[in-house]
Amino acid sequence: MHELSIVEALIEQVTGEVEQAGARGPVTRVHLAVGRLSGAHPESIRFAFELLVPGTRLEGARLRIDEPRAVCRCDDCRASTEIEEFVVACPACDGRRVVIEGGRDLMLQTIEVEN
Ligand SMILES: [Zn+2]
Repeated sequence: MHELSIVEALIEQVTGEVEQAGARGPVTRVHLAVGRLSGAHPESIRFAFELLVPGTRLEGARLRIDEPRAVCRCDDCRASTEIEEFVVACPACDGRRVVIEGGRDLMLQTIEVEN
């Protein structure tokens, strides 16, 4: 489950950022964006988070996960179709001249710290 290493890196990043900001209190909220095409599963991230945060500054923090969608734009029929997984052809016309936009990123959006 590569979500474990994702969450390990996340904890490290959050810890680093709150320390750099000079915040003293515990982290109360973490907001993540996990794109539909990022290959990571929000449920697994949640599981790994609960498993790994005890003993860190993120212990007890609430995790919010947004799942930005991806869009398939087709140069043949001009359709823009929201997709949940990678496609090689347009879902509308089966054309191959498609561009996949968005949905790939896994990003830390915001951190809230109690002061
Ligand atoms: Zn099309």
